[in-house]
Amino acid sequence: MPAVAGSSPAEPSRDCPLCPRLHDFIAEWRHREPAWHNAPVPTFLPPEGRESVRLLVVGLAPGLRGANRTGRPFTGDFAGDLLYRTLKTFGLARGLFEARPDDSLELVGTAITNAVRCVPPENKPVGAEIATCRSFLIPTIESFPRLEAIVTLGAIAHQSTVRALGHRVAALPFVHGAVHETAGATLFPSYHCSRYNTNTGRLTEEMFVGVFARVAEHLAR
Ligand code: URA
Repeated sequence: MPAVAGSSPAEPSRDCPLCPRLHDFIAEWRHREPAWHNAPVPTFLPPEGRESVRLLVVGLAPGLRGANRTGRPFTGDFAGDLLYRTLKTFGLARGLFEARPDDSLELVGTAITNAVRCVPPENKPVGAEIATCRSFLIPTIESFPRLEAIVTLGAIAHQSTVRALGHRVAALPFVHGAVHETAGATLFPSYHCSRYNTNTGRLTEEMFVGVFARVAEHLAR
């Protein structure tokens, strides 16, 4: 893994025009809710900076009333409650998570990003948007010189991360609980911690904690 990102920026500009549909959707919500963040949601970093990051969590995309409102990944909707509780259990976050960006929550050796940085209508980015936004995921991954593990939340985030690392999706399939060794970092795919997945029982808290237990073991080696 290179020590620093190349020339491509790891974060889109506030008015990123690359995905017209997402750009228009955000423009609509800037009009409807001017106090909201309504822009690409930047990667959440630990206070010690990129050099300290050993684990990257890759989500799907900001939720409309969650990260798109608050400006911090997984902050303000249900998915964050389980994610941050679990990170704290394993010492990967500290402080109090109060679902707002000015709470006292801090990440420890961990960063959180999304495969698609802008909120998509109905929570569903299309293939072209996922591919376009990979141009930010790639330099994001490359910006962490000590990266050892990546948790991918859901099939879309997993597949985009596999492609970002230069691998074929068929070689490193999305299977909850799998562990894929790659030259850059070890991949730990998990079902997304969405309310839908936990309500339907596709993902239990025990299953989610199990993934992070394996990650913690890996980081302790
Ligand atoms: N919030 C995010 O930032 N990403 C997700 O994937 C879900 C909620």
